[in-house]
Amino acid sequence: MRPLSALSAETARGLHGLLFDLDDTLLVEGRLTEAAYAALFRLRESGLRLVIVTGRPSGWGDVLVRQWPVEGAVTENGAVLVDRRSGHCTVRDCVDEAERRRRRGSLAVLVSELMDRFPELRATGDVGQRLSDFAFDIGERQRVPAEVIERAREFARSRGARVICSSIHLHVTWDRDDKATGTVRLLGELLGVDATAARFRFAFVGDSANDASCFAGFATTFGVRNLSGLMTVPPRYRTERPAADGFVELSQKLVALRNQGPLPS
Ligand SMILES: [Mg+2]
Repeated sequence: MRPLSALSAETARGLHGLLFDLDDTLLVEGRLTEAAYAALFRLRESGLRLVIVTGRPSGWGDVLVRQWPVEGAVTENGAVLVDRRSGHCTVRDCVDEAERRRRRGSLAVLVSELMDRFPELRATGDVGQRLSDFAFDIGERQRVPAEVIERAREFARSRGARVICSSIHLHVTWDRDDKATGTVRLLGELLGVDATAARFRFAFVGDSANDASCFAGFATTFGVRNLSGLMTVPPRYRTERPAADGFVELSQKLVALRNQGPLPS
């Protein structure tokens, strides 16, 4: 990983957009700071298209895409896309209604098995707004010991589920999309960007293991200082400051570099 100061003006000016995680990247303990919110407007003014990429529910994405200066949101770790076209906000599941009903039914069985075996696991406060997955709180309102998390992950995997961990939540799902595949799909469908262009034209910033697919999938990636968890490919650059302060630091760097000369078409 290189320091953010190593980022070149050429790379910053070649970008068409910035993809960003929410918890512990843009947000601090779930809160949005004034400086981080302002940074989104400065980034957009510099010509970057902004997309939220989060493990949070599609119900959150539906609200945030209506209010924030963003093009769309990849929610539930890639399974559900939210975008705004012609002034309307649309929530799109990756599977049809019948299949989603079937998956939700069998997911409920798995969740009840997990809760019986691991009484330390409790549902997150946002679970009612999720379409595709179920999330347990491991670090938002309570801390679950690492060995319990590991045994729960193994159990869910042994049932054929996919398990994703962020800094605060443990997600279980039957869906196979991840943050990177969901993002490439959204950029293609919403902005007409093909998969290769998306990889090189859009940068990503995140903080934890559920960001691993984006750190591996995109060419220009940033980790905030509080980066944690195991990932196959680390981000290329790291900010000096953590979470929201690191996001603001990144936005200032990108805007300053992009203002140094004309942007490529
Ligand atoms: Mg995060």
